[in-house]
Amino acid sequence: MAMIDLRSDTVTKPTPAMRRAMMEAEVGDDGRLDPQGMGEDPTMNRLEAMAAALLGKDRALFVPSGTMGNVVALMTHCRRGDEVVVGDKAHVLNIEKAIFEEEFFGLIPVTIPDPAGKLDLALLEKALKTKPIRLVCVENTHNFAGGAAVPPEHLQKVQALAHAHQVPVHMDGARLFNAATALKIEARVLAATVDSVMFCLSKGLSAPIGSMIAGTGPFMQRAWERRKLLGGQMRQAGVVAAAGIEAIQNMVSRLEEDHQKARVLARVLAETGGLKAPENFHSNMIKLDLTSLNFSAKEFQAEMARRGVKVHIHAPTEIRLVTHKDVSEAECLQAAQIISQFWKERRREMA
Ligand SMILES: *Cc1c(COP(=O)(O)O)cnc(C)c1O
Repeated sequence: MAMIDLRSDTVTKPTPAMRRAMMEAEVGDDGRLDPQGMGEDPTMNRLEAMAAALLGKDRALFVPSGTMGNVVALMTHCRRGDEVVVGDKAHVLNIEKAIFEEEFFGLIPVTIPDPAGKLDLALLEKALKTKPIRLVCVENTHNFAGGAAVPPEHLQKVQALAHAHQVPVHMDGARLFNAATALKIEARVLAATVDSVMFCLSKGLSAPIGSMIAGTGPFMQRAWERRKLLGGQMRQAGVVAAAGIEAIQNMVSRLEEDHQKARVLARVLAETGGLKAPENFHSNMIKLDLTSLNFSAKEFQAEMARRGVKVHIHAPTEIRLVTHKDVSEAECLQAAQIISQFWKERRREMA
């Protein structure tokens, strides 16, 4: 049975154009700097310059993963033991974890509710006034808020509060371009609300490997050193940078298609399965709360696998569907019908 894989946009495979670009990439040793302080890999230099320009930042740096990008950025802003404001449902806190674990990087989280992906501003202000906060973290799109796109108006308020206390802001923008697409603005407008930003090339943008961090020149110089210490510096990295260039040039503009597919999926779930439109549904993710079915996410996942749809477990009674390049609109429609059918059967059983 051909499976429809809606687990994540991380499953996307590189395009033929990426494969070609990777094969033909001009490369050098990215860990060795020329007298101007540039790495010796010309393709990587091109990717980093493109990313910096796109985000309106001085400089950008390639990192092997989004997780390492956040670690490098946070450990450049902070030292072990520093207190960092972070949303209580933030990916960096709940999934990546190592930044806030004593035996790893030892930052101390000051958690604030972030319903709909937005930090509670009153609690943020209180934290900034009462604690020696070193950094504020935001996330966009917000993964655990169902792919919510956080608008610049909110982020500007976060920035104003933080900067009033001389505290910088970092954005986990793993899906920054999904946020910009959903909000119909340039990514640089979102990047302008923060001091540093990370985005993934490897998710909806479909590159095989890699993320970028971007910020001011002096910050990025220190980030470059941190990346080296963490083992994130690579050699003929142009092989992967070539795919990243393709991702930035040709994959950003197609993210709207993924959002359109998610809208189709949501509409069919609502119409045929009676599932109410999920909260904060803005981009390529749909959260489904299974509590009304009296079914665990694990059982649901197994049942869907039997019927040909792969889903991701988000919480014990919550699953997540993610649209991406490698599922068609027809497949999304089919998946919605499979899920709706099961939903109706289950409700009938329970009645
Ligand atoms: C995927 C993701 C990351 C981490 O990226 P990896 O490349 O998987 O390490 C960080 N933050 C958010 C919000 C993500 O969705």
